[in-house]
Amino acid sequence: MKKSLLMALIATSFISVSNNALSAEVPFAIAIHGGAGTIEKSKFTPKEEQAYRAKLTQAVEAGYKVLEQGGESLDAITAAIQVMEQSTYFNAGRGAVYTYDGSHELDASIMDGRSRQAGAVAGVKHVESPINLARLVMDNSVHVMLSGQGAEEFAKEQGIPLIENNLFDTEHRYKALLKAKQKLDKAKATSKDYQAAHKALPNNYKMGTVGAVALDKNGNLAAGTSTGGMTAKRYGRIGDAPVIGAGTFAENESCAVSATGHGEYFIRYNVASDICARVKYQGKTITQAGDEVINGVLAPIGGTGGVIIVDTKGNISLPFNTSGMYRASKSNTQATYVGIFKGE
Ligand code: ASP
Repeated sequence: MKKSLLMALIATSFISVSNNALSAEVPFAIAIHGGAGTIEKSKFTPKEEQAYRAKLTQAVEAGYKVLEQGGESLDAITAAIQVMEQSTYFNAGRGAVYTYDGSHELDASIMDGRSRQAGAVAGVKHVESPINLARLVMDNSVHVMLSGQGAEEFAKEQGIPLIENNLFDTEHRYKALLKAKQKLDKAKATSKDYQAAHKALPNNYKMGTVGAVALDKNGNLAAGTSTGGMTAKRYGRIGDAPVIGAGTFAENESCAVSATGHGEYFIRYNVASDICARVKYQGKTITQAGDEVINGVLAPIGGTGGVIIVDTKGNISLPFNTSGMYRASKSNTQATYVGIFKGE
């Protein structure tokens, strides 16, 4: 072999070794979800399934691109969540479910793992991208959570145009509302108990939410969640998605979590921060901590749903205790993964 060729080969292998070393030293990763619930393969046509997978891929790639170019985890999760908020497939933004009264009330939150700064909005009716407004609350206000009219007044001050609530109307969500109301009214007629009646609703009426968690090249974690809440929820009901520690949590010392599921349970069991506390104080891996909380704590008491988790090394875990969860992930060491059903 000629000496110059040999030198070129040595140089190339050195570059590839040092690239590997570099990527091993600087991990970055993103995971997203589009809701958990009774999601079974038999309920999809191949075309529908394909469309969901394509949208999840588009969302995870949008976030990954930000990270790959050296952007912040906060920007990556916002980009990914906005793709899903703009789609009518998911229960957030454009695809938000209806309240019992036939309107849409949206919740969202975001958290910066570097500083534990957070922003959240609850019960907004005229804001196209609730995750964007949550971010503005974090960045440009002295508060963590704004609700309803006050949140919308703040949006206007921030230059966000308010839109008509009926722009969130979709036929498939309306049909779901009518079905849910039928079931609720029937259950109420027999039990006279609103809580019990709500419990009687199947899981797919309770869930849908979107979320994202990411680690950027600077080692900063972030988490965000956006939702229309639960179909036929009572007006004014606020779920776990805007509650920091319940539906969303991020701190650089442990992990970043975004949840989807029956929000009341996630609030009562402080799910997102419980997972990170197990990592931080008990030295658990995110896989152990996520499994303990989702399957060990929530499942036995009927708390259905799931979470997406990323840690400071770029490890990803996506546990859920329902038949499916729309999900996707990608990292500097892992190719794009997309899943919908259990066991894939
Ligand atoms: N967790 C959301 C809520 O309770 C619903 C969902 O995840 O689909 O509002």
